[in-house]
Amino acid sequence: MRILLTNDDGFQAPGLQTLYRVLAETNCHQICIVAPERQQSATGRAVTLHKPLFLARHELPCGGQGFAVAGTPTDCIKLALQGDILGFRPELVLSGINAGPNLGSDVFYSGTVAAAMESMLLGVKAFALSLAVKSFTEGMNFESAAAFVRDVLLEDEVLTSFEGLLNINFPHHPREAWQGYCLARLGRRAFLNRFETRKSPFGREYYWVYGSQPEDEAEGTDQEAIARGFVSITPLLGDLTDYAELEKLVERGEPWG
Ligand code: MN
Repeated sequence: MRILLTNDDGFQAPGLQTLYRVLAETNCHQICIVAPERQQSATGRAVTLHKPLFLARHELPCGGQGFAVAGTPTDCIKLALQGDILGFRPELVLSGINAGPNLGSDVFYSGTVAAAMESMLLGVKAFALSLAVKSFTEGMNFESAAAFVRDVLLEDEVLTSFEGLLNINFPHHPREAWQGYCLARLGRRAFLNRFETRKSPFGREYYWVYGSQPEDEAEGTDQEAIARGFVSITPLLGDLTDYAELEKLVERGEPWG
């Protein structure tokens, strides 16, 4: 398969590099990487318009081309699919494996999901891949998640024939402890922001955002799947239209003109 890898944690991030190595070792794919040169988590769907997109080219250790881009995850996908840097059109984009979950409302902020969304909007199916660690101070092991993706691409006709965007989160245990995979809907996971007020050494006040995310473990949600030890898989749409409300408004509305 012709595969483009990207992420939002940066070109050198262990989640991306582990996924590349595990897929390249199968000798079954043509793989390239186009990823941000540095950390771009939570940059959502940002596009760089007012400065140049510099590229650094890297020969990948198991073959293929890599490009580190001075831009966002969405820039990377636009450049890879609409620029002339690759010399081939990928059949699948894999974004991740992100260091941290992208569950529920996270998908609105995530650069990992944004890259996969851009890919879908440009006509290439994509998986957004995230490791659902509870705390960023935990050591992160991406091997099980990467092996799962490797096996899906070689064996799972249902998931590989899906033409849209799959948002996939992995539990942070070794694969032997997983319960399998679970098709789930997005839960609600809005961030409860708090702002700590601090003072710089020069006396200027500033704010530092932090907070918490209430878990929505209602039945059928992605968060419930992860809490029960399943890999959670959610197909996402690029169309945010609320069709039920649209219909109600059309029924009640007085069209102009
Ligand atoms: Mn990230």
